[in-house]
Amino acid sequence: MIDNTIKRIGILTSGGDAPGMNAAIRAVVRACKYYDIESIGIRQGFEGLIANDMIELGPRSVRHIINQGGTILKTARSEEFKTKEGREKAFNTLKSNNIDGLVIIGGDGSFTGAKIFHEEFNVPFIGIPGTIDNDIFGTDFTIGYDTALNTVIEAIDKLRDTATSHNRVFFVEVMGRDAGFIALNSGIASGAQEILIPETNDSVEELCLSLENSYTSGKKSSIIVVAEGEQLGGVFEIAKKVQAHHPEYDIRVTVLGHIQRGGTPSCQDRVLASRLGIAAVEALLDHKTNIMVGLRSNRLVQTPIEEAIKKHNEIDQELLRAARILSV
Ligand code: ATP
Repeated sequence: MIDNTIKRIGILTSGGDAPGMNAAIRAVVRACKYYDIESIGIRQGFEGLIANDMIELGPRSVRHIINQGGTILKTARSEEFKTKEGREKAFNTLKSNNIDGLVIIGGDGSFTGAKIFHEEFNVPFIGIPGTIDNDIFGTDFTIGYDTALNTVIEAIDKLRDTATSHNRVFFVEVMGRDAGFIALNSGIASGAQEILIPETNDSVEELCLSLENSYTSGKKSSIIVVAEGEQLGGVFEIAKKVQAHHPEYDIRVTVLGHIQRGGTPSCQDRVLASRLGIAAVEALLDHKTNIMVGLRSNRLVQTPIEEAIKKHNEIDQELLRAARILSV
């Protein structure tokens, strides 16, 4: 943009929804008011930018949303934004609405789109990591991750009741795309016997051995948490193979699915989203662009968007060790 002074900020949520996105929207809008600039909501992610689907937002229009899951702005995956023509339309919408900068709440796909848009049209933008998967570099936690973890452990606690009553082995598939963060942390928190994640080399033989050992030591039921990105052929296939080894086991499979995306955001997600929303507005006012705001060791940090997209957070070896120790 020619004029580098930020007077009006557009906010959008893009990609998969995550609990806490509303708290981030609220924080962006209220920070704008605090700094005496305008804010406008863009509906349906990049789709709304192309279609000029906007809503003026003020401090009172974001009341009563900090406690709501989902996103009041709605989110979408936009194929048109992947084309040059689509992005040109989006740029024209920005110009006609006098929007000087964007806050994009989403995952790495959304950041990739924003980066390309910036390269082509020089539109200043700040990314806020919003995804339950926690798979974005440059932050210890993404918005929605903590709530999803709590949803998962609540569900597994319920499965444990029936597993124990019937002496069953439950295989539970959790979300996380290609990453095992949800599986590892929820597995430890719910007392899983085994946790299968894409980052480790697991095998059905080792899994069977673990189950046999636990049965020998007196365990009559087990929970196995399986990340959706696990490389062993999917939760049903793994369960089938274990059943073939052990026809005597009473095995059940549960795929938690989209309940992991919903629900009231946890305290941690609300605070994280609130801090990142303010940080995004302050970064734009500071003439920063092409970065993501995040939290490292409970401190606000900024990461070049390129790194946020390309690099990956490593699985914590200490957590893997803890999971092994606790499964004796
Ligand atoms: P989540 O991790 O929750 O799925 P995400 O932001 O990674 O969130 P994606 O569906 O990958 O979700 O991306 C969201 C949107 O970003 C896409 O629908 C598209 O509009 C835009 N986008 C993604 N990649 C590109 C690209 N290479 N060029 C332009 N736009 C893109």
